[in-house]
Amino acid sequence: MTPASQKPSARVFCIANQKGGVGKTTTAINLSAALAMHGQRVLLIDLDPQGNATMGSGIDKNQAEINLYQVLIGEARIAEACMRSESGGYDVLPSNRELSGAEIDLVGMDNREMQLKQALTQVADAYDFILIDCPPTLSLLTLNGLASADGVIIPMQCEYFALEGLSDLVNTIKRIYRNLNTSLELIGLLRVMFDRRVTLQQQVSDQLVSHFGDKVFKTVIPRNVRLAEAPSHGMPGVVYDKSSRGAKAYLQFGEELIRRVGGRVRRRAA
Ligand code: ATP
Ligand code: MG
Repeated sequence: MTPASQKPSARVFCIANQKGGVGKTTTAINLSAALAMHGQRVLLIDLDPQGNATMGSGIDKNQAEINLYQVLIGEARIAEACMRSESGGYDVLPSNRELSGAEIDLVGMDNREMQLKQALTQVADAYDFILIDCPPTLSLLTLNGLASADGVIIPMQCEYFALEGLSDLVNTIKRIYRNLNTSLELIGLLRVMFDRRVTLQQQVSDQLVSHFGDKVFKTVIPRNVRLAEAPSHGMPGVVYDKSSRGAKAYLQFGEELIRRVGGRVRRRAA
C-alpha cells in the first residue's frame, strides 16, 4: 500500500444548487457511499444546518456535540468532530442547527470565507474525495464551501425553469472564481429525479446537453422511491437497496466521476 504522505491531496467538490429540494443532499450521501464502494476514502461535510446529510448517513445530529460549527470558528479540529457513517463506509463532518450561529460568528472574523479551506488542510491527505453538501442559499457558509472546493457538481431536475436557475448558478461560480477561488471549476451537471416518460423533461435534458455538452454527466439519476425512503433508515440508498434503479445509477455516477477526474476505480472487498 502507498503511504498516505505519497498520495495526492483529496479532490474537494461542492454539491450545490441555489434551488431548494433539487436532490443535493441525496446526491451527496449516495455519491459518498458509491465512491466508498469503489474503494475511495471519502469525507462528507454537512454544510447545511438542517443536518440532513448527517442524519441520512446514519448519524444522530443531536449527538454530534463537536461538529462543523466548532471547526469553522476554530474551536475544534476536524479529526475531533468527524464521525463514521458505518452504513455508508465514509467519514462525516456532522452539522446541526448550531451551525446557523456560525453565520453570525464568522462575520466578525478575518478571512471569514476561508475558514473551511484552512481547516481542510488538516485532512487533505487523508481522503481521496471530500464532498460538501451545500445549503440552498448563497450564504457565508456556502461561500466557505465554494472557496474550499476544486469544483462544483450541480444536481438538477429537468424542469421548465431549470435552465434559467442554472445560468444564475453558473454566474455565481464565475464570480467566486474571480474573487475567491481561481481553482474552482464546474465539474458537471447531474440530471436527477429524471422521468423519461415526461416529454418536457426529455426536452430540457436535450437542451442541457446541446448547451453544456460534455459538462453534462452521462449518468442520469431516475426518480426512485427507494432513494427517498433510505434516509429514514439512516442509510444511503445505494446501501439500503443495492438492486434499485436509483442505487445502480448512483453507483454508476461514482464510477463516471472517478474516471472524469482521472482516478482509478478500486473494488472494496465485500
Ligand atoms: P435542500 O435544498 O432543502 O437542501 P436538497 O437539494 O438537498 O434540498 P434533497 O433533500 O436531496 O434535496 O431531496 C429533496 C426530496 O426529494 C427529498 O425528499 C428526497 O428524498 C427526494 N429525492 C431526491 N432525489 C430523489 C430521487 N432520485 N428519486 C426520488 N426522490 C428523490
Ligand atoms: Mg439538502
